Amino acid sequence: MKKQVQPRVEKGPRPLLSFTEQRVGKPPRHLIDLDPEARRALLVELGYPSFRANQLLKHYFAHKTIDPEIMTDLPAANRAELVKKVFPPLITQVKTQEADGGDTVKILWRLFDGVVVESVLMKYPDRATLCISSQAGCGMACPFCATGQGGLARNLSAAEIIEQLRMNMVLAEAGVLGESVRITNVVFMGMGEPLANYKAVISSLHSMIDPLPHGFGMSARNITVSTVGMVPIIDKLADEGLPVTLAVSLHAPDDGLRDDLIPINSRFKVKELLDAARRYFVKTGRRVSIEYALIKDMNDHKWRAELLAHELNSRGKGWVHVNPIPLNPTPGSIWTAATKKSETVFVETLLKAGISTTVRDTRGSDIDGACGQLAAGTVNPENVAKRAIKAQQAVDERIAKHRHEPENLDSILSVRENDLVKE
Ligand code: SAH
Repeated sequence: MKKQVQPRVEKGPRPLLSFTEQRVGKPPRHLIDLDPEARRALLVELGYPSFRANQLLKHYFAHKTIDPEIMTDLPAANRAELVKKVFPPLITQVKTQEADGGDTVKILWRLFDGVVVESVLMKYPDRATLCISSQAGCGMACPFCATGQGGLARNLSAAEIIEQLRMNMVLAEAGVLGESVRITNVVFMGMGEPLANYKAVISSLHSMIDPLPHGFGMSARNITVSTVGMVPIIDKLADEGLPVTLAVSLHAPDDGLRDDLIPINSRFKVKELLDAARRYFVKTGRRVSIEYALIKDMNDHKWRAELLAHELNSRGKGWVHVNPIPLNPTPGSIWTAATKKSETVFVETLLKAGISTTVRDTRGSDIDGACGQLAAGTVNPENVAKRAIKAQQAVDERIAKHRHEPENLDSILSVRENDLVKE
């Protein structure tokens, strides 16, 4: 049996990263987990001609259905049995919550083995975005994020990821957001670190982007994969030929602070991460998003905005977009969002330095559906709160010395940007 590893604060105390799943049961075999060739082979294995695969897939991706009654182009005899074998039910809708006057809908899903994940559907005037989970829980242990306090339960399969999308598509088209809406955008910003579940995430991206009958035919540019910064895997993603948008959860431009806010920074430093983000832009032509949760008196200083702008500009112009997000409250958090005033100064400093910047909205925060709030009852809220308090106090003590501007800031900022730009 695999060793169970859970992020926790040790006596030291530093949180542990975990890449090992606590639960390792495999979901039932599902057609959507397979690549196109294996999809045909499965039908042959089940005793059907291979072309039946495409018929089934068209129902799945075009009509978003797994109801055998509707599949009248398949022979009636054994149809229900066949459909059950290729599309076994993987996720069950457990709880639905609305916010923002019905424009945001958070759904709790139960998977075959009882683990739960959440997805959040958001309607905007010009689009509808689904935020999906790639893992049950998360092993990255970021102290300001509720998901990070419960540890990683397990990776989701590609089909479990895609089922979140298909079922939300059906609900959105049926009017769950007040009117019939088509999901145009997907962000991997729910529970989990998508790049730590790489194979399933890539396979799910194909099912989103590939044209019928092998996918929904969505536009790659409308899909965002968000990461804490797993540098070698960012390079791998850039080589996939899937020009999805990359979002990097940076939250600090200096290692002193980021080491504590994002534990994986102990392996991949800010400069290495921004170099990888830049390479992603060069290879895919997709502008990279930088996520920056503004935490009061922690990372919201003007000098940090200057340092961030410097790090970004020194790697080129126009390749990046910054999304500051006011910190969303999480159970037990001893930290709060930056004040409106310091948020404004932060944003203006970036804009003045020529960095495209927009403050991200906090959709769904009153139903714990906003960034960093998805805990999905994987652990009880009291435990989340207890762990968060412990983790944040430990960080707070360590980073006290990183609150102030470094003495050599001027010399750091005065390095001529052109000397640093690497094309
Ligand atoms: N693990 C991936 C995907 C999760 S995306 C990643 O970290 O990028 C969720 C986003 O919300 C990340 O940018 C995360 O850093 C941010 N976040 C986490 N907790 C938050 C909080 N309390 N307030 C605002 N943003 C938060």
